[in-house]
Amino acid sequence: MSANLLQTPIDYLKGVGPNRADLLRKELGIQTYQDLINFFPNRYLDKTRFYKINELQQNTAEVQVVGKIVHLKSFDQKKGSRLVADFIDETGKMELVWFRGQKWIRENLKLNTPYVIFGKTNWFNGMFNMPHPEMELLEEHEKNLRTAMQPVYPSTEKLTKAGITNRVINKLIQQLFIETRGNFYDTLPENIRTELKLISRAEAMFNVHFPKSQELLAKAQFRLKFEELFYVQLQLLIKNLIHKQKIKGFVFDQVGENFGEFYQEHLPFELTGAQKRVIKEIRADLGSGAQMNRLLQGDVGSGKTIVALMSMLIALDNGFQACLMAPTEILSVQHYNGLLDLCKELKTSIYLLTGSTKTSKRKEIHEKLENGEINILIGTHALLEDKVKFQNLGLAIIDEQHRFGVAQRAKLWHKNELPPHVLVMTATPIPRTLAMSLYGDLDVSVIDELPPGRQEIKTVHRFDSNRLKVFKFIRDEIAKGRQVYIVYPLIQESASMDYKDLMDGYESIAREFPLPEFQISIVHGQMKPADKDYEMDRFVKGETHIMVATTVIEVGVNVPNASVMIIESAERFGLSQLHQLRGRVGRGAEQSYCILMTGHKLSEDAKTRLQTMTGTSDGFEIAEVDLKLRGPGDLMGTQQSGVLNLKIADIVKDNQILQLARAYAKQLLAVDPAMTDPRNKMVRYTYDQLATHKNIWNYIS
Ligand code: ADP
Ligand code: MG
Repeated sequence: MSANLLQTPIDYLKGVGPNRADLLRKELGIQTYQDLINFFPNRYLDKTRFYKINELQQNTAEVQVVGKIVHLKSFDQKKGSRLVADFIDETGKMELVWFRGQKWIRENLKLNTPYVIFGKTNWFNGMFNMPHPEMELLEEHEKNLRTAMQPVYPSTEKLTKAGITNRVINKLIQQLFIETRGNFYDTLPENIRTELKLISRAEAMFNVHFPKSQELLAKAQFRLKFEELFYVQLQLLIKNLIHKQKIKGFVFDQVGENFGEFYQEHLPFELTGAQKRVIKEIRADLGSGAQMNRLLQGDVGSGKTIVALMSMLIALDNGFQACLMAPTEILSVQHYNGLLDLCKELKTSIYLLTGSTKTSKRKEIHEKLENGEINILIGTHALLEDKVKFQNLGLAIIDEQHRFGVAQRAKLWHKNELPPHVLVMTATPIPRTLAMSLYGDLDVSVIDELPPGRQEIKTVHRFDSNRLKVFKFIRDEIAKGRQVYIVYPLIQESASMDYKDLMDGYESIAREFPLPEFQISIVHGQMKPADKDYEMDRFVKGETHIMVATTVIEVGVNVPNASVMIIESAERFGLSQLHQLRGRVGRGAEQSYCILMTGHKLSEDAKTRLQTMTGTSDGFEIAEVDLKLRGPGDLMGTQQSGVLNLKIADIVKDNQILQLARAYAKQLLAVDPAMTDPRNKMVRYTYDQLATHKNIWNYIS
């Protein structure tokens, strides 16, 4: 069928009409024939088997029975009425029960006529009953285009209420197949179809909605998942090709004084293998002539800073300036001090610019940036202000990616004729599976090795009832000269409930650890930034023993003397957040601890999260579990979930198909990058269609 026909508004399908069309649009986003055909079941019921009533067992899943209703009766109770039918087959009797829609059922059910019923059964009062069964006259059942594996489509409450049941959806799709004669053009080239023994697209579409057998269903799903992932990968790969060709970058081909001297004489420690590898990758990028746009992932404490510095030194060696941007003032100051220290033997000029930089200093910085006296500028968002003009910015490094939006990143670009190279550093590991599907070939470097001699942070889960023991432990650690974090969940910084939890917590801590022996800092989102910084600063300097805080301390803060992280209501935190928080300790030479406090009532997911935390400290492993628990959309933040809005494939479960699809997409582009070969005509066509209908580009920076 022609693609135009597939773009027909759903209103035109027989059996739809304006009301239903409206609901389909609003509830399921189905606008066109195409959308309906791409509306896939999320599971299938196995209706290959018919049960006799005397074969029913307690605890069986959904069952299918053929029989007749011989009697209908209503019961009125305080809690509401119910309608009960006696249902029999030749082996016995059971009951069908309705709590809703009784009038309609009473008027429409036929007595003493064979029905096929389907549903879950309960054992009650010595008999099986089935609440709200799916029912169909046996005669109809035999006539319908329906198969043993029955699809179940996603639904919503509104749809169910409006009578758009699973069966209605199924009928509409049936109608669509009739109107279009199930004649779908194939989108994959012949050679791929043959090599992978894929069934045709038309056959796949039919069998995903009306599977003739388990085997055909599996083939249909494979074919459609492959196709979906193939086009996602094709788009990503092409995007990368375009990126590499069009965006020219400065060529940094000198490795000179700064880098050389630092590497040979001032390295404070031996680099880990992973750090060396990543620096090599970055050097290759910087010398390639294309603009670098690289993501550097490395767990907290893996040593990203030194990589950042050495990359900046390469920029300097080639006569360019570099900047390093961090999300908070505290982090910027830490970076500034750290880099000053590392570079004290070099002739580099490093400046700090933040919101609280004094006007006179600010002016000086603006001038020195423009005349090139500043080599490296470190700071916060203040770097993005219009007045900040570099003479020749060659490399921009952004620490903790998730706090900066794409638009902000783009702003840095526009300070120059050519865009600077960009290195984004993040401690939130994106699972490899996800990174690949999100970024395609976009450059990702990974530091997957911690510096030697790091002690693993001992992580335990304790119930609130053990609080006294935990307090004693805190006291002992403070006596040894250590500092302690106590973190409360403040999911929404404005929620007054959470705020109350925090203040209650603070008060009880203050009672337990009284002045003057103990000094406590408190930091939360409702404080003025200046007060926040003051409190944080006291803790950093070791003037306070305990830091009571919300998750504002999550990012980057480095207090090597802090050795205990207590996380209150740990069940309310996501895995990646727990992992980030834990990373605040274990930065010094001492054994560090993370204590996850919870109540006794825990959901299954919460249990998994806690077990993962106590079981591993590998950020990538944690990220993979997180991905499985929450799904990719959540993990990446809502703005990015769109790119993963896959209709049938699952990025986690179908990873092998993803790899395959990626390999084939690569192969195709290697041979025919513009997709002009007549054999790839349909690929080109489908690709163009996708490009106009959904905008995947927006999500990738
Ligand atoms: P992050 O990746 O979290 O930004 P940092 O760069 O702050 O990590 O490094 C954490 C700590 O590890 C710092 O104190 C740093 O000096 C130290 N460090 C980094 N690399 C090494 C190494 N190769 N050997 C020993 N210590 C290292
Ligand atoms: Mg860091």
